[in-house]
Amino acid sequence: MSNPILPRRTVFRGALLAAAAAFNPVGRSWASETRPGFISPPPLDGQLLLDDAARTAAAEDYGHIVHHRPWAVLVPGSVNDIVKMVRFARSHGLRIAGSSALGDSHSTQGQAQVAAGIVIDMSALSTLHSIDATSAWVDAGVQWLQLLNATVLQGKSPPTLTDYLELSIGGTLSVGGIGGQAFRSGLQVDNVLELEVVTGRGDLVRCSPTSHKMLFDSVRGGLGQFGIIVRARIRLVAVPSHARTYTALYNSLPAFLADQKSLTDDGRFDYVEGSVVTAADGSRSFQLETVRYFDPRAPPDDAALLAGLAFQPGTARATDTSYFDFVNRLAPLVAFLKAQGLWSLPHPWLNVFVPQARAATFVQYVLDNTPPEEIGEDPVLLYAFRPSRLTAPFVRVPLGSHAFLFSLLRTANPGTPGNVAALLAKNQLFLDKLKQLGGKAYPISSGPRTPAEWRQHFGVRWPWFAIAKRAFDPDNVLTPGQGIFA
Ligand SMILES: Cc1cc2nc3c(=O)[nH]c(=O)nc-3n(C[C@H](O)[C@H](O)[C@H](O)COP(=O)(O)OP(=O)(O)OC[C@H]3O[C@@H](n4cnc5c(N)ncnc54)[C@H](O)[C@@H]3O)c2cc1C
Repeated sequence: MSNPILPRRTVFRGALLAAAAAFNPVGRSWASETRPGFISPPPLDGQLLLDDAARTAAAEDYGHIVHHRPWAVLVPGSVNDIVKMVRFARSHGLRIAGSSALGDSHSTQGQAQVAAGIVIDMSALSTLHSIDATSAWVDAGVQWLQLLNATVLQGKSPPTLTDYLELSIGGTLSVGGIGGQAFRSGLQVDNVLELEVVTGRGDLVRCSPTSHKMLFDSVRGGLGQFGIIVRARIRLVAVPSHARTYTALYNSLPAFLADQKSLTDDGRFDYVEGSVVTAADGSRSFQLETVRYFDPRAPPDDAALLAGLAFQPGTARATDTSYFDFVNRLAPLVAFLKAQGLWSLPHPWLNVFVPQARAATFVQYVLDNTPPEEIGEDPVLLYAFRPSRLTAPFVRVPLGSHAFLFSLLRTANPGTPGNVAALLAKNQLFLDKLKQLGGKAYPISSGPRTPAEWRQHFGVRWPWFAIAKRAFDPDNVLTPGQGIFA
């Protein structure tokens, strides 16, 4: 552990603003110097920022819809800083949450924000501590891309990756982390071997399936309610150097869904995703996207891999890339979106898990109620996974052997309040329909926002969720931006 690899960011050390900042527990206000009646936070290795720019940045995320300003931003210089500030928050009735990066959280509805509390900029702790044959021990502020850059040199990779890799390990482990490998390997939360967590009590605890299991199970997909993940041991698997991506188009939604389901059963591909594609004339088709990893000395057999699939003849394409370029395939698109200013427009996203038996009904309902101009060229993901591969109790998915991820990854353009409100209202309409059909929201975007909606979301798991909250965060200090506890 003492030999860190590739720190992502230089952390300011020494008690800078922290020494001067002070909190008035009666007047509930902060000052940048000590005054009578004010209490100084504990001395820190990092910084506690009170300036306008830092607080404004902490009230921003990828959604650009919700803006809750905190009182302070902790840029931790050590794990101990997080322990101290969680304890400080707890003893003074303040609320606190981790955020993957100041102003760059990928939440879309303020889930990492804290109105009148403290936001922890987790990107300040982003060291890869060690990588061995089967796992990597990393800070929670590490991005998946950073980890992959180091492991791919050794022919290793986390088994499941999100489509976009510049998400933080702590952030995706708090929500789930799904990708095209999930049908085989489960979510990212199913591929973590050990966690180090600062609970809402301010205790630093190492947990795993064999030690403090209740905390381990609660925190994986626990939406930041039980602890701040500070370090994680991520499972690694051997991966071949290359990837062959196959795409093919379907006109029939039922045929597309049926092939997706059978591909997640027969395992001929290493990755299965798909999307809804809208042509210039408004017509829609369904694009299968599957991948087989390979060593160039033994290329895949295309005919065998595509045999029996019901796509439209003549639409299949195959493209070879390195494994790394495949998993990092969104990087050029993201650079383009940022250059065009589209990244900074509002994103009223909808991400849901649909039971296989109702997938055709739900997807058709959404498409019938989504005119082409409402989605433009934004991605609409639709792919199968197997809930039996999932192990984290608080990641709620539909019952049944198969389910589908369905995502409307919308950019509101124009990003006017009226347009955003209309798209959010649409999301609510779709969520209501989803509920009737036995689906679950993937709570990274529109989804449950009130305690009552969250109770419904967790269903039979709610009592367990509430017990875990009382055990690990009895004073409700952590992560208010999810809206789970009043
Ligand atoms: C372009 C893009 C592509 C995406 N692709 C995928 C995808 O393919 N698959 C997928 O599953 N998701 C995907 N997501 C969604 C992503 O998983 C969520 O946004 C998730 O919240 C992770 O983002 P983050 O690391 O920025 O975490 P944040 O948004 O900062 O945090 C998410 C939640 O976790 C809490 N949190 C953050 N860090 C910690 C920590 N260390 N300990 C405890 N709680 C913490 C926050 O308070 C917040 O409540 C994508 C998002 C974007 C914007």
